[in-house]
Amino acid sequence: MYILYLDDFGSVANPAEDYFVLGGVCVPETSIRWLSHQVECIAQEVAPADPGVVEFHASEIFGGRDGVWKTIPAKVDRIAIIKRVLKVLDNAYADVVIFACAVHKRSFPAQDPVQMAFEDLSSRFDLFLRRKAASGESSPKGLIVVDKSSYESSLQNLTAVFRREGNKWGSYLKSICEVPMFVDSSASRNIQLADHIAYAVFRRYNAGDLTYYDCIEGRFDQDPTSGVIHGLVHRQLYKRNCTCPACITRR
Ligand SMILES: [Zn+2]
Repeated sequence: MYILYLDDFGSVANPAEDYFVLGGVCVPETSIRWLSHQVECIAQEVAPADPGVVEFHASEIFGGRDGVWKTIPAKVDRIAIIKRVLKVLDNAYADVVIFACAVHKRSFPAQDPVQMAFEDLSSRFDLFLRRKAASGESSPKGLIVVDKSSYESSLQNLTAVFRREGNKWGSYLKSICEVPMFVDSSASRNIQLADHIAYAVFRRYNAGDLTYYDCIEGRFDQDPTSGVIHGLVHRQLYKRNCTCPACITRR
């Protein structure tokens, strides 16, 4: 079983933001506890007396206005924490991979970016599982786990899609459990890591800021034979010759 932990970043409704991003980390069941423990260790360093109060949300860490982040006055130190959370992936096995879809909202005014990103990532996760099957794993299965505290509207959109098109999903995404599971991010360090991945990709596309993206660039799911990066998707219609890794790899 592989779990794909997903979180979103960017408001669908906010015209000041160009992008909506859905992203996260795909973890084989044998690595779930290990990965979660790596993030927990950072929480123990941030608040040794009570690591349970530390919930990693990249934008809150960056802002430094709430909770334990108020006690870390230097922005450079808070940025270092966001990067450290992302860099737990450096020591993970190669079958821990990441996925993200960045949707340029104005390119698709008639479409729901949440649904678009979710469809993209579901089918890419399915493709990943099919590759696992082709390489000899016997019928690998996938489960998608989504942060419950994502924007309420996004969540409603997602559940509506599943109610409306549940059969369609079930019929073509054979390897993925039909309905995603929603969890409270405070209870899952792996969802908190997904939050950081979505944030890193959002910053890359929305602001051209590679600070966080550079920490994870090598982890996107990639077909070892063709070299195509399947794990990163840039959905846009405004830049025909985009040179981002997602667009280049498909040209
Ligand atoms: Zn691109």
